[in-house]
Amino acid sequence: MMHDYTDDTDELADRIVEFARWRTRLDPIPLGQARTEEELQQLVGATVTTDGVGGHRALELFRDVLAPSCLSVDYTKYLSFVPAAPTEAAVLFDLVVGAFSIYGGSWIEGSGAAFAENEALRWLSDLCGLDRRAGGVFVSGGTIGNLSALVGARGAAKARLDAAGRPRPDRWAFLVSKTAHSSIPSATAVMDADAIAVDTDEDRRLTGPAVEAALDEHGDRIAGVVATAGTTNLGVIDDLRAVGQVCHDRDVFFHVDAAYGGGALAAPSARPMFDGIELADSVIIDPHKWLFAPFDCCALLWRDPDQARAVHAQHAGYLEFLDAYGDWNPSDFAIHLTRRSRGLPFWFSLATYGTEAYAEAVQVTLDLAVEAGRRIDAAEHLRLVWEPQLSVVVFERIGWDAARYQTWTESMMDDGSAFVVPSRHDDQPVFRFCFVNPKTTVAQIDEIIDALR
Ligand SMILES: *Cc1c(COP(=O)(O)O)cnc(C)c1O
Repeated sequence: MMHDYTDDTDELADRIVEFARWRTRLDPIPLGQARTEEELQQLVGATVTTDGVGGHRALELFRDVLAPSCLSVDYTKYLSFVPAAPTEAAVLFDLVVGAFSIYGGSWIEGSGAAFAENEALRWLSDLCGLDRRAGGVFVSGGTIGNLSALVGARGAAKARLDAAGRPRPDRWAFLVSKTAHSSIPSATAVMDADAIAVDTDEDRRLTGPAVEAALDEHGDRIAGVVATAGTTNLGVIDDLRAVGQVCHDRDVFFHVDAAYGGGALAAPSARPMFDGIELADSVIIDPHKWLFAPFDCCALLWRDPDQARAVHAQHAGYLEFLDAYGDWNPSDFAIHLTRRSRGLPFWFSLATYGTEAYAEAVQVTLDLAVEAGRRIDAAEHLRLVWEPQLSVVVFERIGWDAARYQTWTESMMDDGSAFVVPSRHDDQPVFRFCFVNPKTTVAQIDEIIDALR
């Protein structure tokens, strides 16, 4: 019986735990390498068979072939997209979360887990300066976080128009900046709504006057305004105070996408840049990006959780029982029902190390960005394109065309010496570093700068 715990299971347990321990201890961590489907087919072959290949064999295949065929986002020279650097405690506790079969959607089934997740959410909410009534849930990522937030915003807009006796628009729209993350237009497309791009200022920031003018122009069609606190490509933070104030004055829902940038709130030195985030009706922050949690973990916070519940709670005869117990069912605050208590590894790490350790680790990465900027500025073959604000550094390799950027990136990947992929800025190819790993060193940055000669 596959559900029996046998001696063989026991041996497998030792191997799995030992393997996880080995990976957690591994230093330095290699980049890993993508393989083709054909190569993997040849190396792995058929694994899902009538009788099974056995846990030992499957583990061996994972250890020897499948795992090395995945890039390690916590490799210290993985500086593309937004990397990740989960803490030891967070990674190890992820094993425990899996072992416990917790249903994380309702209070009655997962009260202990929900309590701990709420502690972690409270810390984030306090960093944002939201009031004590604020709360939310951990969802899979910024994409679902943004979609859930915009659906909540539309719900609030409907309620506001209905209460005022004004007609609902034929088609809803959101005001967003041109630099908003790709998940925002994706969310509006799912909602069959429009994302109206508002011009940014010379610093690429969404501003209060621009949002005000757009609200005047589009009126009741606007279901909400989306500001970004840390754009993905440049790390720019919109003028949150001015935009938030306009939204507040007009009674328009204000969502702040801090999926990447929000991690910086942990460092006191960065907080002034987020001035005004406390005006948000909803905020997302991905702890799997810059707060050292494993995938997948996005905090979605609502100023008014009741408003979110009104839109997102699912109702059915078979769910009524859950509603009778406690008024905090995590499922009620986003688009999902069954959910893993994915905030637990993040909570465990916070509880283990304390928030001061988070402040220090985030500060290390902010300092790395400043130092990388200085070194790029000083290198005659490179040009700094943007003064780093958060932990993103964007620069140009003078004299290279897009094809040359590409071949350099591929050669660095092939020998496992860095993962730095080209991006685009003002339609020009650029390189972009994103620092979230406090174990990245200045010497490693120098290695990459040298390799670009
Ligand atoms: C990464 C990112 C997202 C999307 O988050 P996922 O967790 O990848 O779904 C949304 N907004 C911003 C600003 C991001 O940087």
